[in-house]
Amino acid sequence: MSTHEAWSLVCRLFAGGTPVFRGALSPAEIGACTTLGPAIKPTVISRTFTLCPYCQLRNGQVFGDGQGGQVCQCSDCGPIPLAANDLAAVMLDKSWLRSKLRMALEIESRDGFTDLGNGVWRLGEARRGPALLAPNLVPLCVDPSVFDRVRVAGATIRVITPASVEARRARLPAGVEWLPLDERFAYYGGGISFLQPGAQPAPAESQEPWTLVNGPFSADFKWVTLASWPQGPIRCTDRQAEVFKALWSFKGAEMHRDRVMQRAGQEGRKPIDPFKVKDRDKGKPAHEGPLHAYRELVHARQRDGLYWMPCASPDAVAA
Ligand SMILES: [Zn+2]
Repeated sequence: MSTHEAWSLVCRLFAGGTPVFRGALSPAEIGACTTLGPAIKPTVISRTFTLCPYCQLRNGQVFGDGQGGQVCQCSDCGPIPLAANDLAAVMLDKSWLRSKLRMALEIESRDGFTDLGNGVWRLGEARRGPALLAPNLVPLCVDPSVFDRVRVAGATIRVITPASVEARRARLPAGVEWLPLDERFAYYGGGISFLQPGAQPAPAESQEPWTLVNGPFSADFKWVTLASWPQGPIRCTDRQAEVFKALWSFKGAEMHRDRVMQRAGQEGRKPIDPFKVKDRDKGKPAHEGPLHAYRELVHARQRDGLYWMPCASPDAVAA
């Protein structure tokens, strides 16, 4: 189990802010829960609703099956018998995160935590500059009054939040430095280490394959990151990536499907062809993810055979 996956799970649970069903975790994330030990706490989200164990997409109401067992009534799959641990969920121990971040930033223990409300915590004064932890950077930039409450003359305020497309675009108030939780910290030896800028290995090694390079896409178009898909970066097949790359090259302009498919180097009739989900794969996030990305990003006027991807237009890329 890589410590990298463990740290990704911590960041994802902190960004989401709510417990998640174990059934919604990937096998790698289940392993990460073990690696993380006390950072992850078992919990129960609800005894009346649960994630459908069959499709793992919808929540269904829980009923007794009349024989001592339970079933989940999924609106898509119908009644699905529940195993004992199907109601199990996990949550991040946020006090673990706060105390390990303090150690990573070398904050003295006598300088206590302060709950500033709305999920924002002052972790203390690292090297005499206040450090804040918050689940989302954007509201703090819209209403920066929280920074005024902790500001110390002559010191930069450091604010730690999960990285997101929105956070990268947020305009920081003067005297505030953003430390993306996912990038400037790492899980190490049961605790958290702070990564100094410039101390990381060369970008080719430190960059994740899904690092955003072309709008929501990675450099090779094989990964898509969308806020509307909470399971994390979506992995595309080679054929799907070729279609996205072809549409991207037209910079948001409407293009006939034949030209799109020609540029993608594919035989298919329509750009959506490689995204279609076979019946046996219906409901599986690995297959539904790319289709979700296609539906969100690709626009079409079917009657005229025209396709375009608005996020590739120069205006959208510059934003
Ligand atoms: Zn279902």
